[in-house]
Amino acid sequence: MLYSDKIKGINNEVSYMETYIEGKLANITGSRGYILDRNIFIDFLIKEFVKKGGDYLSSAGFINAYHPGLEENSSGWQPVEESAANESHISHNFDNSRMLYVEIRQNDSTFCLKTKILAGADGPCSKVAKIMKPLPRNEYEFQENHDMESSFLIGFQENITKKKDYENHTKIFFYPFISGGYGWVFPKKESLNVGMAVNINALKENGLKNTYQRFKRELVKNEVIKGDEYINSTISGLAPVCGIKSRVVQNNIILIGDSAGLCNQITGAGNYNAAASAKIAAAKIKTAITTDNMEILNEAQKDICDYFKTSIGHALKKRQFLEKNKSDYDFGNLIKKTWVSFKDYWRER
Ligand SMILES: Cc1cc2nc3c(=O)[nH]c(=O)nc-3n(C[C@H](O)[C@H](O)[C@H](O)COP(=O)(O)OP(=O)(O)OC[C@H]3O[C@@H](n4cnc5c(N)ncnc54)[C@H](O)[C@@H]3O)c2cc1C
Repeated sequence: MLYSDKIKGINNEVSYMETYIEGKLANITGSRGYILDRNIFIDFLIKEFVKKGGDYLSSAGFINAYHPGLEENSSGWQPVEESAANESHISHNFDNSRMLYVEIRQNDSTFCLKTKILAGADGPCSKVAKIMKPLPRNEYEFQENHDMESSFLIGFQENITKKKDYENHTKIFFYPFISGGYGWVFPKKESLNVGMAVNINALKENGLKNTYQRFKRELVKNEVIKGDEYINSTISGLAPVCGIKSRVVQNNIILIGDSAGLCNQITGAGNYNAAASAKIAAAKIKTAITTDNMEILNEAQKDICDYFKTSIGHALKKRQFLEKNKSDYDFGNLIKKTWVSFKDYWRER
């Protein structure tokens, strides 16, 4: 519903979710959703962008940006060498004093683009977010918790060939050895996504792969999978769980998705939030450009925070509760208080 046209990449549809605690089924809840073929989806987005006149720079990386008007290094930004500025075909003829210079690396070359607005959609370790100054604490209570600044879940997922019949529902698994996180089995049409996300700080003793292999052995023991399925692909990555960034907009820079900290702090889900925040940001960017009024971008800060404050504010509280009580709470009860399929998650605010 976020997109006006039908999107590509939906592989499967699921209607309910089973939650298991230490191998035992704890509940079944209605939970409709879609399983994406992410590569197909992303490829579709890029092609649509190009079809509408966008310039897509393949394998290009953002390095840095600066306002020509700002004092050098005043906010930790490094100025981009004017001499290196390449008046590329992508640059437009805007008023230079309000422009941002953006340094880009593509293959072996580095060049500079001029832009009116920079949108950081560069994920959990966003370089764009790093060049923005954080706001003082507690500007919004549901926003980034600085005590948890380095809080990440680290995830690992295999896509394995489906060997057994598997109904179209998701399965979620909690074990104490998956500290602060959980394991999952998500069915695609011909295959299964089997994965696990764990608090990055808990990995000091057990590596990510070891923890994942232990989880997989539990799945075999409980006959969820056979264990010798062909592995089609693997992915790993981080999910930020410290809350919405205190600043989502600064001057003419705006953050969306994981770069803005919009991943759910309990489930680690961020695909919908990335697309929804992009939609809000895109509308504001369009108005800011057409009216030539960059102040409009500040409205996106409020709109994005308002849109996500209930879900993310609540998830952040639950994450804090989970981390604080993980050693001295009964494991099953802790999960029932902090996982979305249980009433206590929603009841206790
Ligand atoms: C293992 C795992 C499983 C997950 N499963 C789910 C799930 O089932 N459902 C769900 O909703 N969410 C899931 N998530 C979370 C979800 O993937 C993210 O929340 C979502 O992808 C965020 O989208 P994004 O566009 O903000 O960031 P990303 O998807 O991280 O995209 C950022 C992009 O920016 C690029 N980039 C980074 N730095 C730069 C730079 N300097 N210059 C240029 N480009 C750069 C990256 O290469 C990447 O392509 C999972 C995460 C992990 C790690």
